Amino acid sequence: MYGILGYLQQLTNLPERRLNMALPSDNDNGHVRYVTVHLTDECNLNCTYCFSRPYRFGKHMSADKARRFATWFAAQAEDGVYAVTFFGGEPFLRSNLMPIIVNTLKEHSKPNTTFNFSATSNGTLIRLKHIEMLRDHKISVMVSTDGDQPTHDRYRVYSNGRGSFSSFLKGVLILQQVQKRITARLTFTPGTVDRLVTNHEALLLKYGFWSVAASPVTEASWDEASFDLYEQQLFELAGMLLEQWQLGRFIRLRILEKPILELMLGEDKGAIRYPCGAGRTAAGIGADGKIYPCHRFVGMDEYVIGTIEAGIDSKARTAFWEPPVKTGTLCFRGGCTMCDLKSVCRGECYQVALEATGNIKEPPRSHYRLTQKSIYVAGCLLDYILEEEPRLLERILEIKSGSLMADWRERIGVVC
Ligand code: SF4
Ligand code: SF4
Repeated sequence: MYGILGYLQQLTNLPERRLNMALPSDNDNGHVRYVTVHLTDECNLNCTYCFSRPYRFGKHMSADKARRFATWFAAQAEDGVYAVTFFGGEPFLRSNLMPIIVNTLKEHSKPNTTFNFSATSNGTLIRLKHIEMLRDHKISVMVSTDGDQPTHDRYRVYSNGRGSFSSFLKGVLILQQVQKRITARLTFTPGTVDRLVTNHEALLLKYGFWSVAASPVTEASWDEASFDLYEQQLFELAGMLLEQWQLGRFIRLRILEKPILELMLGEDKGAIRYPCGAGRTAAGIGADGKIYPCHRFVGMDEYVIGTIEAGIDSKARTAFWEPPVKTGTLCFRGGCTMCDLKSVCRGECYQVALEATGNIKEPPRSHYRLTQKSIYVAGCLLDYILEEEPRLLERILEIKSGSLMADWRERIGVVC
């Protein structure tokens, strides 16, 4: 059962690799592959923990800015696949800009470039009139929620305090007509962590979501009791995954899939493991056309890295090309080099770290504790499914050949 923990122990003894492997920022040519475009910074909801609330200036992107953005993005694309996510505020407040951006990109795209489109929405404004546009332009929508009705209505509220669950569900039912696989983005706090299982059950088994991508509000006030609750809920989620699998149903729990993948990748040949592409391959575009490291920095003037008119100022994003974590963080006494999670941790979201500690590379202690719990539960689950349900692992990894799994079994000498 605990073979994986021995493997983890081995990993922590491997020579230090990531922290000395900074890519020089001169390699930064300003090229961006993933953008999140703020069609507006307004939102029709007033969720209690919303990170964008301080940056709501009532600005909508103009049609002209939308065209300029698409022209810039198409021009800087080199080859391969690029992604555009419509964001906000609530992007369906300005859904008329979506076709403008899609069509302008198509008009200006080079022959060897492809653009994929998605939107992140609170779901409440999705109407029948949007179906044709979403279908014609192949825009997939991810919806944000806090879980079942009582949890959702507690936090995801209109400005008069009324819960938004019934409008959310109405939007989801419409969306299901055009999109079979819908992912729910679920946010949880120490106040809702005890309902993690209930909320996954509601979304996956009752409302028919294809996948749930749950993430904690790391910067909230976590204590030891809530970390323990988190571990307990994760174990129950692992049980739910196995139970559904045995009933012939594969449910997608990103909260467990992600640490399983981290465990399997483990030692990754010396590459720097950034938490995300912010400020390197990714960018956030403000409604006014300013470019930021990612959507969560939009509106923070000190983090502007360019404009859609002038392009990226590579020097302004140097910090995001350097190693993502430092020695001596608040996260773990002794810093990342001494941390037992260093081989499976990608550091924390820069913006979460900034909010919690005032430094984009200084994750709070809660990051270490939450990661520790996820890796522990995922390790136990991985150990079990390698022995008992290897086909489930293949589904989780969506492996066609199974070669990654075979390679991994060999590396750790798993006896199945
Ligand atoms: S958990 Fe914290 S201290 Fe440990 S490797 Fe990750 S960022 Fe560094
Ligand atoms: S900084 Fe945070 S919000 Fe931005 S892309 Fe990275 S993980 Fe996501």
